[in-house]
Amino acid sequence: MTDIAESANVLLKNDNYVLTTHLNPDGDALGSLLGLGLALLSAGKNAVMVMPHPVPATFQFMPGAQQVKKVDVQAKFDVGIALDCTDITRAGEEAQQVLQKARNLINIDHHISNQYFGDLNVVDAQASATGEIIYDILYEAKIPITSDIATNLYTAIVTDTGSFQHQNTTAKCLQTAAFLLDCGAEHRTIQQHLYEQRSLGSLRLLARGLESLSLNEDGRVAWMTVSQDLLSASGATVDDSDGMVDYVKSLKGVEVGILFKEVNSGETKVSFRSKNYLDVNQLAAHFGGGGHERAAGCTVNGKIEDIERVVIRKTEEQLAVKNCGGPGR
Ligand code: AMP
Ligand code: MN
Ligand code: MN
Repeated sequence: MTDIAESANVLLKNDNYVLTTHLNPDGDALGSLLGLGLALLSAGKNAVMVMPHPVPATFQFMPGAQQVKKVDVQAKFDVGIALDCTDITRAGEEAQQVLQKARNLINIDHHISNQYFGDLNVVDAQASATGEIIYDILYEAKIPITSDIATNLYTAIVTDTGSFQHQNTTAKCLQTAAFLLDCGAEHRTIQQHLYEQRSLGSLRLLARGLESLSLNEDGRVAWMTVSQDLLSASGATVDDSDGMVDYVKSLKGVEVGILFKEVNSGETKVSFRSKNYLDVNQLAAHFGGGGHERAAGCTVNGKIEDIERVVIRKTEEQLAVKNCGGPGR
């Protein structure tokens, strides 16, 4: 039996589910959580969607977002489902406890760095988004895809492909997106909420960030830093820096774009994006993170200036490695 068929089977056979996703959720994390959660509820199951923090404001338009609950560490479930998580710690401590208590733990993900921590692991690094895998599971389980479910899964695919721009935009991903539109996914509503509702603070942050954009000597590495000072000067929050790394990568000649986000005075989140050949999953893994070949991240403790220096040096080192796939190498 394939992983898809086996997971469809588990979803049909049990009654009591808890679903969760990674901390600092993105559109795929929430789209997968809400898409699968609403599907299980519509199939008459008890399905509780949990997260340690509230759904970020940008994503509150997603159908079912109001049904996401705080984690109750006392609660017990037959099946725990982790979505879009490379490893179980990405779910946060409390959700991790609840997942581990479940009789059966299912890990559904598309990160190449996935740690196969479930009793059942549905991991497909070829999938554009975890939401794309959920579509296949629901199709296999013959659970009807309502327009609300479709809107969630479509959001997952749109966000993880950068609106169908990244390398993971495959024929299968576009076919799935087309099926979801047929099922009633609200394309314009999603675009409006994700890309046409920016706060003034977030645009000011972008302007200031771009002004301080830095480049290494050969122009293949570019980076931008979002410090706590910059956030307060711009009237922005850390969430407002989402998407800024794509601007860094967009510069001509740049292979790797890096965004340094000072989460607090001792902790920096680093986002990597590469264009054509550098495996940033490997680069992020060097700092305890992971992700995909062309998009990865990690969180590093220490002073932001030190972290910048070390990360940029490591990036240049990786670029200099022979046969890293670069032009003429
Ligand atoms: P981000 O830069 O946060 O948008 O993340 C890019 C990709 O890397 C996403 O697919 C994340 O799930 C993944 N990622 C980010 N941070 C980590 C981490 N600390 N550990 C594993 N994967 C990560
Ligand atoms: Mn994600
Ligand atoms: Mn994802």
